[in-house]
Amino acid sequence: MSNKIAFIGLGNMGGPMAINLAGKGNREVTAYDLSAASRAQVAAAGGHVAETLAAALEGADAVVTMLPNGQIVESLLIDTDAVLSRLPAGALVIDCSTVSPATSRRVASEAAKYNLRFVDAPVSGGVAAARAGTLAFMCGGHPDHVAAARGLLAAMGAHVFHAGDSGAGSVAKICNNMLLAVHMAGTAEALALGVKNGLDARVLSEIMLKSSGANWSLEKYNPYPGVMDNVPASRDYSGGFMTRLMLKDLGLAMEAARGCGAWTPLGELAQQLYRQQAESAGDDGLADFSSVQKLFTGTAPS
Ligand code: NAD
Repeated sequence: MSNKIAFIGLGNMGGPMAINLAGKGNREVTAYDLSAASRAQVAAAGGHVAETLAAALEGADAVVTMLPNGQIVESLLIDTDAVLSRLPAGALVIDCSTVSPATSRRVASEAAKYNLRFVDAPVSGGVAAARAGTLAFMCGGHPDHVAAARGLLAAMGAHVFHAGDSGAGSVAKICNNMLLAVHMAGTAEALALGVKNGLDARVLSEIMLKSSGANWSLEKYNPYPGVMDNVPASRDYSGGFMTRLMLKDLGLAMEAARGCGAWTPLGELAQQLYRQQAESAGDDGLADFSSVQKLFTGTAPS
């Protein structure tokens, strides 16, 4: 059991996760972020915040990171801030950021040099799940290290999966999100085809949900405006999972595919489609990813 945890990266996801870890997990958590605004938000929610990285790490025997990307994770843990070299032997390091499997494997091998335990544990579920403490964690690492991480992760999520060795959590994450990108785009395409042929999107959705086309996008996150309440499609695609984050994940999936010679034509096409949607919206990918619907409801390219 870890006695003192440093939680680094208090953005949209990390902020509420740190609060849950301290509250539901009943642990001593010191939270840190480069941004004063993020630190203030966590402090306002009752979290214990450090003003410097060094202060957050003081006496810590576990570190949880939730950072924007792999470059920042590697810079913080290894190259610039060298957090791994500053921890006591046996400390537990859990990276929950979405990063490439190569980054996770590099951090794991560096952590081993300092006799640290490391788990890559990216999450499925967005900001709402982070707040509710219902995230799903996909873990990669030695079984003993994953077992040691389980208690901490359970305070922030509803499911903890052990995918395999170091990097396997990151592999599971990018496979899942590539599939999500594909079935969302496929669902949007089918709905637009039906509507353009005179069907009501609600009726078609109901039929497909009880037929072989059923999938998560159709069931939980219908991309066609007006079919479902409380989804981004019914509030002009605001909130939800930004297209730019989906593009980040598809970029990681394509990088991993190139690295191992996997053929991912659907993932590649999905990447083109989401890129095209972000460009035509001119919003830098800020709209929810289900806005890919607009490509299909518009006029077909000639
Ligand atoms: P975010 O940009 O809201 O938060 C990241 C935080 O990290 C920021 O507050 C930033 O100031 C901080 N940070 C950056 N560099 C730092 C450093 N060197 N030291 C300390 N703090 C630093 O991002 P987010 O939406 O919370 O996402 C975090 C991770 O979770 C990403 O890898 C993302 O891909 C993944 N993810 C996000 C979602 C989502 O819906 N937002 C869902 C699943 C996974």
